[in-house]
Amino acid sequence: MSRPARTYLRRCREALKKVNPIRSVKGTRDLLPAETALWQRVEEEARRVFVAYNFREIRTPVLEPTVLFARSVGADTDIVTKEMYTFTDRDNESLTLRPEATASVVRAYLEHGLYNEGGIHKLYYMGPMFRRERPQKGRYRQFYQIGAEVLGSYHPSIDAEFLEMLVLFLERVGVRDFALLLNSVGCPKCRAEYVKALRRALERVKVDLCADCQRRAATNPLRVLDCKVEADQPIIEKLPHILEHLCPECQQHFDRVTGELKQRGVAYQITPRLVRGLDYYTRTTFEITSSVLGAQNALLGGGRYDGLAEMLGGPPTPGFGVAIGQDRLMLAVEQAAQLKGEDQLAAYVAWMGEQALPLAAQLAQDLRRQGISAELGYEPIKLKKSLSVANKLRARFAVIIGEGELASGRCQVKDMNTGQQEEVEPARIAQYLQEKLGKPSV
Ligand code: AMP
Repeated sequence: MSRPARTYLRRCREALKKVNPIRSVKGTRDLLPAETALWQRVEEEARRVFVAYNFREIRTPVLEPTVLFARSVGADTDIVTKEMYTFTDRDNESLTLRPEATASVVRAYLEHGLYNEGGIHKLYYMGPMFRRERPQKGRYRQFYQIGAEVLGSYHPSIDAEFLEMLVLFLERVGVRDFALLLNSVGCPKCRAEYVKALRRALERVKVDLCADCQRRAATNPLRVLDCKVEADQPIIEKLPHILEHLCPECQQHFDRVTGELKQRGVAYQITPRLVRGLDYYTRTTFEITSSVLGAQNALLGGGRYDGLAEMLGGPPTPGFGVAIGQDRLMLAVEQAAQLKGEDQLAAYVAWMGEQALPLAAQLAQDLRRQGISAELGYEPIKLKKSLSVANKLRARFAVIIGEGELASGRCQVKDMNTGQQEEVEPARIAQYLQEKLGKPSV
C-alpha cells in the first residue's frame, strides 16, 4: 500500500474513534458488491423463467395506505397486529411500508382497471418488504421478495402450471434440495364449517395452548395452525384437518390440481396444517421448504386468493400467486454453488505517458459503449504497476498503450489469465475482446 493510502486509512480510523459511527437499522443490511453479482444472476434467471411463462413486470410503491393491508392480509394476523412499519403522514393519513406485495399488485390491478382488458393477467415483481420481526439468520426487517401473480382465472391448471414454473426456477438457480408442501383451505363456505369444528375442538384444549393461541381460538382459530410454539405442536397436530371438510367444488378443484401436478411430474407433499399466515387465501395453498436453510426453512409461499379483489372493493377476480423470500433463496443458491455471480471486469486500459491518454480514453469509451466493462487508470503509471492494478481489479484483459504502441498504431492486449499477449489495432479491440469473452455486444 502506498504512503498516501496508509495515511488516509490512519486518518479514517482516527476520525471513527472521535464520533460514534452510524450503523444500519437493526434487522436491515447492506448488500455489498461481493454479494450483489449473484443476486443479479438470480434475478435474471427469475425474469427469464417468468417471461417464458408469459409474465410481465409490475412495479408498485413501497409506501401504501395502511388500510390496504388491514383489509387484505387480515386485522388479526401477526403482520398487521405486530409487524408493520406504520406512521401518520403530515396530512394525517396512515401509511405503511409494504409488508408484502400481493395486496399492492391487486390494488394496482383494480386502480388501473386492468380487468377491463379481459383475459388473464400474469404479473411479476421484485423488491424490498418490511416487517418488524425478531431478526435472525434468514429473517430480516427489510427483506426481499421475488413474486408473481396470475389474476383472472379459477382454473386448477393455473395452480399446477404455476407450481411447475416455480420448480423450474429453483432448478435453474441450482436449488434441488426442496419440498413442495400443498394444501387446500377451501372457500368461505366450507371453511366456515371447518372453523366451527375447529372452534369446538379448541374449546376442549385451548387452556393448554400458549396465550396467543388462546386469543386466536376466540378471534381467528385458523391462525392457531400457524403457531410455532414448540409445546403447542402435539396438541395442534390432533386438531381436525381442513381437507376433511372441503365442499364438493373445492375437493374437485384440489383433485384437479394434484392430478395435473402428477401429470407434469411435479412432486408434492399434502400438508393439511398449511393454512399460511395471511387471511386472503382460498383453496390451494403451498410452501416450498429447503432443508439447507435451518430454522427459517420456508423458501417461498403462496396460493390462491379468489376473494381478495372483492375485499379491496373490486369486481370478483380470482388470483393465484407466490412470494419467494430472496434472502433465503440466496442462502440456498450459495449452498448449491451452481450459479456464479459474473462480476469480472473485462478490460483494464493501461496507458503510459500523457500523450497516450486521449487514445486510451477513446478506447475505454468505445468498449463501454459496446457493453464491455472497462476501467481506465486516472494517472500515468509504469507498465508493471498498471498490470498489478489490472490484476487487483481481476480484469480479464489489459489493453496496453505506451509510446511504442502509439508509434506503431497497434495496442498490446494481454490475457491476464494466460499471460499471452497479442497486437491489435485500436479500432478492432472491441470486436477482438467480444470474440474472446464470447459475449454479443449490447
Ligand atoms: P409470506 O409473505 O409471509 O408468505 O412469506 C413468503 C416468503 O418470504 C417466506 O417463505 C420467506 O422466504 C420470506 N420471508 C418472509 N418474512 C421474511 C423475513 N422477515 N425475512 C426474510 N424473509 C422473509
